[in-house]
Amino acid sequence: MATYVKDFSEGDKDQKDLLGGKGANLAEMTRLGLPVPPGFTITTEACREFLRTGEVPAELRVEVTMALRRLEDALGRQLGDFHEPLLVSVRSGAKFSMPGMMETVLNVGLNDASVQGLAEYSGDERFAWDSYRRLIQMFGRTVLDLDGELFSQALDDAKAARGATSDVDLTAEDLRGLVETFKDIVRRETGRDFPQHPREQLDMAIVAVLASWGTERARLYRRKERIPDDLGTAVNVCSMVFGNLGPTSGTGVAFTRDPATGKSGDYGDYLVNAQGEDVVAGIRNTATLADLEQIDPTAYAELRQAMRRLETHYRDLCDIEFTIERGKLWMLQTRVGKRTAAAAFRIATHLVDENLITMDEALSRVTGAQLSQLLFPQFAAGSDATLLTTAMAASPGAAVGRVVLDSATAVERAAQGEDVILVRRETNPDDLGGMIAAVGVLTARGGKTSHAAVVARGMGRTAVVGAEAVVIDLTSRSFTVAGRTVREGDLIAIDGSTGEVFWGDVDVVPSPVTRYLEDGLDAALAATDDEEVRDLVRSVDRILRHADATRRLRVLANADTPEDAARARRLGAQGIGLCRTEHMFLGERREHIEHVVLAEDDAAHLAALDALLPLQREDFVGLLREMDGLPTTIRLLDPPLHEFLPDLTELSVKVALAEERGEVDEGDVRLLAAVRRMHEANPMLGLRGVRLGLVVPGLFALQIRAVCEAVAIRRAEGGDPHAEIMVPLVGSVQELRLVREEALRIMSEVGAEHGIEIDLPVGVMIELPRAALTADRIAAQAQFFSFGTNDLTQTTWGFSRDDVEGAFFAQYTANGVLTVSPFETIDAKGVGRLVQIAVEEGRATRPDLVIGVCGEHGGDPESIRFFDAVGLDYVSCSPFRVPVARLEAGRAAVTGVDADTR
Ligand code: PEP
Ligand code: MG
Repeated sequence: MATYVKDFSEGDKDQKDLLGGKGANLAEMTRLGLPVPPGFTITTEACREFLRTGEVPAELRVEVTMALRRLEDALGRQLGDFHEPLLVSVRSGAKFSMPGMMETVLNVGLNDASVQGLAEYSGDERFAWDSYRRLIQMFGRTVLDLDGELFSQALDDAKAARGATSDVDLTAEDLRGLVETFKDIVRRETGRDFPQHPREQLDMAIVAVLASWGTERARLYRRKERIPDDLGTAVNVCSMVFGNLGPTSGTGVAFTRDPATGKSGDYGDYLVNAQGEDVVAGIRNTATLADLEQIDPTAYAELRQAMRRLETHYRDLCDIEFTIERGKLWMLQTRVGKRTAAAAFRIATHLVDENLITMDEALSRVTGAQLSQLLFPQFAAGSDATLLTTAMAASPGAAVGRVVLDSATAVERAAQGEDVILVRRETNPDDLGGMIAAVGVLTARGGKTSHAAVVARGMGRTAVVGAEAVVIDLTSRSFTVAGRTVREGDLIAIDGSTGEVFWGDVDVVPSPVTRYLEDGLDAALAATDDEEVRDLVRSVDRILRHADATRRLRVLANADTPEDAARARRLGAQGIGLCRTEHMFLGERREHIEHVVLAEDDAAHLAALDALLPLQREDFVGLLREMDGLPTTIRLLDPPLHEFLPDLTELSVKVALAEERGEVDEGDVRLLAAVRRMHEANPMLGLRGVRLGLVVPGLFALQIRAVCEAVAIRRAEGGDPHAEIMVPLVGSVQELRLVREEALRIMSEVGAEHGIEIDLPVGVMIELPRAALTADRIAAQAQFFSFGTNDLTQTTWGFSRDDVEGAFFAQYTANGVLTVSPFETIDAKGVGRLVQIAVEEGRATRPDLVIGVCGEHGGDPESIRFFDAVGLDYVSCSPFRVPVARLEAGRAAVTGVDADTR
């Protein structure tokens, strides 16, 4: 039987799939005995049914009636009654929080009759009429889909008529008039009256919330956050409590720790005499919790107790929405709070120190994505840039970009490749597109919990909010601040860690965490006396060391030069998993390849290769020196040779022009003939990888000899080289057998020449489906496997890796074929399946087979969890991703692979 409705008292925090995050946490707070206004949750199952059929399931109406009657009985009041009416709020609440994306309707149940009842109950006629006009306004916008401007304009007119500057100055009489005006707007715009029947209001509001799951902005947010489209939202129907019943009432948001910095201690915003979303909307500036202690010590004490209770229970930072109605505290919402990357690391270690969580849990509470955010550069200290203003630091980072004053412009200019900073009075859900496009967001109004702050933090976008000195004038497309006019298109810089806004460009410097990773803990601590920064660096160090001690996967780096190798090693790499040797044939060395290609006889061919030998040998010596004692996997040449030759068209033109002038260059003519001969329609599927090695005599032999001689040199220098030879793009075991035999021969030759034994492991890249599917045979000739998941993705999907991402992936993610590029995160079901088969069958043949991955996926957090789960021995990624991979490999070991969400 379907479950469409559950009372708050029936659920708990683990039922987020069914009740949504908000519903599950309301249920949990109710279970804990905290003061939650009673109510019920319409489950995501009802929403999914609604999405499937486009209609509200018939049983839902019945279940809502039953829940409503239970609620009425519990409170001894009736929905929309003439006396002491029960009013309810109707709010969305999906499994994953989607801040500000979906709708809320408050005061449902008010009509021409019950507004009198509310006046009686509250003893405040003004309040009753204000509540009623808010209902019509919210209902009009959200449920009836009317332009919100119509209502705001009418409100402004009413204020102007009274000479009032704020809503608070309007009298009961004014508001009663406004209600009539609002009702007229509804009648005029929809052709019908504002619904008077409370149950009709409730049903319409429920449908509006269910339908808001499918709005464009909600879809956009989900795509960005990779939230599946088919989860659906729950709807929470909660008895209303009022924060706008005069000076002893109010509403607020509280955090049990600072979500921006992670600092211990209560933290929050409070608005006296305000309702619902006023705090989050950031329309008025707020008081702090310390102020609340002065305003209402009793409610404050109760709130603090509830906060501590929640933090102890969830063992994490909680964020809380609360309302105080005439001195009585009500808890409207809680959840494990979002936080910045720095706060995540600091809070995790603080909770360990407070003995609330273990180090394993601390590790599971930070992510590789958060660590990468901490690697963002920051503004250089002591810069002489002009400081325009300092406001609230809402989301960290340092952003420099051109001012844009609306979202559409942000999207447009960002699409042209410009870095833009979106400057708005305040943001609302319609600004999401612009916030995604911008490198930073600056708002003139609002606190740390305003829409701009919450959304920017969630997406890791730099944000400064509440810059009251900034006065925006959309007509002249500019803003003024500190007596200066800044025009759209001007360059500004914002610091989301300090709240500073600068005029013009500002230099950026590495972050303290980058310094720690590069130079070590002591150096990073010595570089600053800011205790918060030092605490952050220590937290990162502790968690990263724990990840290293815990992880099963080794982390290697993809590096081709001694410099990269050295950096990788500093960042914690345990070797090189992929050295792409083609990098060694570029620049001045191209001409050697030309000689190889143009050689007219065997002798010329060998001579051309011989010329390359000393160069390659030096390359490998440098690499092995940096990676002394650690595995250094050298991949034999992979790309088609014509990649090293001039472009066919350019060379054709050059030769044609020369011919016209009668200055024919014989070399160019021969080169052109060779380039033509070697031209391929599909070079990625052509003569490359092992095929090249087997077809161009002596090429792989040269490279293998260079590796062996480099090993001999390093040993003679007293080093401890661990070179390994890796063969790319193998499809058949026979290809590998041929190269391996040649390699063994060269090893013994060079060994004999130097009087040492050279026995380097020879392994293979698994980059073709056929290799994966014949892994049992290939393993007989390979000492290790390394998945080249870039090519394996390309060849499994038939996607040209260099073309398709730019060409049509945007459409493919928009229409839901892909949630993420398979070149970025491993496609577990397809490419991952091949990986799994190859691991199992390879190890069946050779139980001690060492297996890793060196495609881009080796540095991708989600993919790393997959590779850990299928039993790989190592991941190899670019040097700067090594710390993230270390962390994620540790997380994989303590949390296992995530549930399948694709
Ligand atoms: C791969 O294909 O995943 C790989 C690492 O090789 P390359 O990217 O050099 O083709
Ligand atoms: Mg490859």
